[in-house]
Amino acid sequence: MEGVTGSSPVTPTIFSLECLPSSFFIGIPMSDKYEPKHRMDEALFKMRHSMAHVLAQAVLQVRPKAQLGFGPPIRTGFYYDFMLEEPLTESDLPDLEKRMRKILQEKETFQREELPKAEAMKKLETMGQKLKVEYAQELIQENESLSFYKSGTFVDMCEGPHVENTSQIPVMAFKLDSIAGSYWRGDVKRPMLTRIYGLCFPSENELKEFIKSRELALKRDHRKLGQELELFTIDEHVGKGLPLWLPNGTVIREELEKFAKELEFKDGYVRVATPHIANGELYKLSGHLQLYKDSMFPPMRTVEKDPDSPPEEFYLKPMNCPHHHMIYLSRPRSYRELPLRLAEYGTVYRFEKSGQLAGLLRVRGLSMNDAHIYCTQDQIKDEIKKVVAMHKLYFEKFRMDKIWVRLSLHDQDKEKFTENEELWVKTENILREVLKELEVEYEEVMGEAAFYGPKIDYQTENVLGREETAATVQLDFTMPERFQLEYTAQDGSKQRPFIIHRAPLGTHERFISFLIERWGGAFPTWLSPTQVKIVPVAEDFLPYANQMAGDLHAQMIRVEVDSTNDSFSKKVRNAITKKVPNIWIVGSNEVKDVTVTWRRYAAEKQAQVPMAKAQTALLSMVRDRIMDNFPDVDLPL
Ligand SMILES: [Zn+2]
Ligand SMILES: [Zn+2]
Repeated sequence: MEGVTGSSPVTPTIFSLECLPSSFFIGIPMSDKYEPKHRMDEALFKMRHSMAHVLAQAVLQVRPKAQLGFGPPIRTGFYYDFMLEEPLTESDLPDLEKRMRKILQEKETFQREELPKAEAMKKLETMGQKLKVEYAQELIQENESLSFYKSGTFVDMCEGPHVENTSQIPVMAFKLDSIAGSYWRGDVKRPMLTRIYGLCFPSENELKEFIKSRELALKRDHRKLGQELELFTIDEHVGKGLPLWLPNGTVIREELEKFAKELEFKDGYVRVATPHIANGELYKLSGHLQLYKDSMFPPMRTVEKDPDSPPEEFYLKPMNCPHHHMIYLSRPRSYRELPLRLAEYGTVYRFEKSGQLAGLLRVRGLSMNDAHIYCTQDQIKDEIKKVVAMHKLYFEKFRMDKIWVRLSLHDQDKEKFTENEELWVKTENILREVLKELEVEYEEVMGEAAFYGPKIDYQTENVLGREETAATVQLDFTMPERFQLEYTAQDGSKQRPFIIHRAPLGTHERFISFLIERWGGAFPTWLSPTQVKIVPVAEDFLPYANQMAGDLHAQMIRVEVDSTNDSFSKKVRNAITKKVPNIWIVGSNEVKDVTVTWRRYAAEKQAQVPMAKAQTALLSMVRDRIMDNFPDVDLPL
């Protein structure tokens, strides 16, 4: 167990359908200072952990009967869960904060006490902490003793570590942030607790910096920018959670798809196309109907006139895998064909509760950068390595620098995992070896595997510091069995292949919402809906502008000419508001010298560039997919 206040924190599960990699998160990584927990600076970890105790102590001052749940440190600070008779609201936070500052000034030391289990249970019962008693009962199955920490009047069952005394925490380096409801043990059938979140950083300045950048991030909400930049819309006539991609947003989708398809082509993938619905029998076979029916849209029943045709049930597909498995099964396979890499930008549908839908982030229809790799056991390692390399390429390209790797393993005690201990151990070892050989730093987490096999998760954090899964690579030994997939081996015997599920770019919906927020809507030229806006300084120069636009258009450049009657400065402002990466200004000098005055989005300076040179540079920015929305990137000028 990690040093967590009486707890292992619950990792939020974003998607209940296992095969839907949850792809990219909302929000902007704030700063590299916020490390994942296993790498969180030890001093900061102790600070945040201790603050959870201080919060509980303050809450007990105002709510002496509060039952304490879990209170772990998190990436932006800490939280603690309380069961309260009389509720606490946001308006109580300033008073609690004041009490916490006072506790910090009291210089209370954290003293550890180790008690044999019987005594520990007795202590907890005397304290009247029922939730702690429940958790301790689980802990004593595996532990002979339990540890407690006392600071001032407050005692908590806890592993530590903490700061030595509360005065080591700067009184202004924390702030209570918000209150939310949270089920005890993350279980909807258990009582709803009150979770109080606090922010905590090494210093007051770093706290302020975090708050400031979070405000900026919230301003960049993809729903707001999506509307302003005319990327997508959601109309209830079509349906909640079913985004309509407008021409501008569709450009981004298709450019991303083109990029993915090229990389997949180079890595030996072949493409397939499958329908959006499937007979219910398919999902009985896959097990999804038994396990995940709640996340699927209800079936469509068809009745044909012919009395010999029985009625059938069809479902919108919640994932592409079963369709791909049927393609594998479409004829006998030989070891010579493996690895077989089937790729599809497949659209899937999930029944999300309407209250949970949010912009592009929680939707009911999503298009996934999906592929399934069917391979022999000997090929797993190499295939996973290639898949990991592809993820790395994307993360570097899109500068997703706050990614850490989690190896998600099964938990023998949990029912949901397929029973086959030997294969679990074998496949988990393969993934472990791959990560070690690639010298990837990772943490192992029990019980987070898919029900059909272990996986490598790329974790990240959202704007609120909450951990989310950016992408996952899953190694599946269960579906080949269920679908009776086989191939003829070199010795003529029939063997089961393994399947690797992967979707490095996740879904268009989540990935594009991520990019919008990360970049504040300013896309690089290759992804921009309008790549160049030509602005004539006066109407006289319109023919020159139009001719230039014609040339560019013929070279597949997305170009627009501002032919409105707006003033010159208004035209430039409009292009900037639409975050067009390149503005080409033309006036008498430009016509005379056959040049353009090139103004880049967000750049102070502009330059007069010979027309031919400007065109060549622009074409290479597009062709080479240069990330010119980052100021440190050199332009081919
Ligand atoms: Zn503690
Ligand atoms: Zn899959």
